[in-house]
Amino acid sequence: MEVVTLNNPLSEKPAVSDEEKSRIRLAASLRQQSLKALIGIIWQLSITGLAILLSLQGQWYWWLLGQMALSIVMVQWFFLLHDFGHGSYFKSKKLNDVFGLLASVFSLLPYYPWKLVHHAHHKWTGWREFDPTIPERKFEELTPGQISLVDFCWKYWIPIFAFSYTIQTFYKLSRLRLLFPGKRNDQKMSRSIYFIALAHLSMLILLGPILYIQLWLLAFILYLTISDPMLLSQHTHLDYHDIEIEDVKPVRHIDQSFFSRSIVYPLWMEKYLLYFSNRHGLHHQFPWIPTYQLGKMENPEENRISWLEWLRIAKSMPGHLLIFRSTKHTGVKL
Ligand SMILES: [Zn+2]
Ligand SMILES: [Zn+2]
Repeated sequence: MEVVTLNNPLSEKPAVSDEEKSRIRLAASLRQQSLKALIGIIWQLSITGLAILLSLQGQWYWWLLGQMALSIVMVQWFFLLHDFGHGSYFKSKKLNDVFGLLASVFSLLPYYPWKLVHHAHHKWTGWREFDPTIPERKFEELTPGQISLVDFCWKYWIPIFAFSYTIQTFYKLSRLRLLFPGKRNDQKMSRSIYFIALAHLSMLILLGPILYIQLWLLAFILYLTISDPMLLSQHTHLDYHDIEIEDVKPVRHIDQSFFSRSIVYPLWMEKYLLYFSNRHGLHHQFPWIPTYQLGKMENPEENRISWLEWLRIAKSMPGHLLIFRSTKHTGVKL
C-alpha cells in the first residue's frame, strides 16, 4: 500500500481492498470467549498476589524480585483495563466494569475517565485537535525551560511523561467535565478517582506507611519508566490530518493504522508480558478484539517497527521534537 503524501496518507487509498475484506471477516469472528477470559483473569490475579507477597518479604532479593514483577503486573493491569473499558474482555458488561475498577487500583488510571477519553481517542484518531489524548500544549507554546526539561528527562529515562499525561488527561476533573458533560458522567468519573484514592488509603492504613512504601514505591517508579516509551510509541510523531486544509470527519477504523503504530517485540514478550497490546495499529482497526485474541491476527503493514529500532530512533531525538512535532516537520520516520 503506497503512502502518497505525508499530510493525508489516505488520499489515494482504495475504499476497501480484497485483502482488507478477508482481514475484516477474520476480525469479526474474534470476540469474547468466556473460558479464555476466566483463565486470563485467574492468571493475572495469581501473579499479582505472588508479586505482592514477594514485595512484602524482609529479604532484599525477594523484595526486589517482587517489585520488578509488580511493575510488570501493573503494566499488564493497564492493558486489561484497556480491554475492560472497551467492554471487550468479558461478555458481561458488569464483569468488565467490576474488573475495570480493580485494574484501576493497580494501573492507577481511573476507570470511567479512561473509558470516556479512550472512546473519544478511537473516534478521533488522526485529528490532533479532537483527540483528547493528544497534549493540549502546542509546540509553539513551549518555553525554553519546558523544552530543556522534556529533552533532559527523555534522554535520561526520567519517568515524567506517562505520569504527567495521566494526571492531565484522566485526573483533571475540570477538563473532563468540559469534554464529557452531564451529571451521570461527572459522578462516574469522580467516583472512579475516589475509588483509587480510597483503595490506596485503606492499604496505607492496613499496612502502615513503611510497608506501603515497601510495596508500591519502587514498583511504581519502574511502572512509569516502562510506561513512558510504551505510551509514546503508540501515536507520537506520526503525521495527522491537517485541520487547516482537510474536511474534518472521523477516520474509519480500518484506516486508523495510518495514524497508529504497531511495535514488534519477540513473540514471547508480546504473548506473556504485553498481552499483544503492542499491536496498537491492529487494535485501532478492530477495537472489539479482546487482548487474548489479538495474537491471531497480523499487524497491519503501516507504521510497523521493531521495538529496538523504535527506541534507537526515538532516543536519538530531542524529546520535545519527538513529542510535539511529527515526520513532516523533522523528516524522521519511526
Ligand atoms: Zn491509540
Ligand atoms: Zn483502545
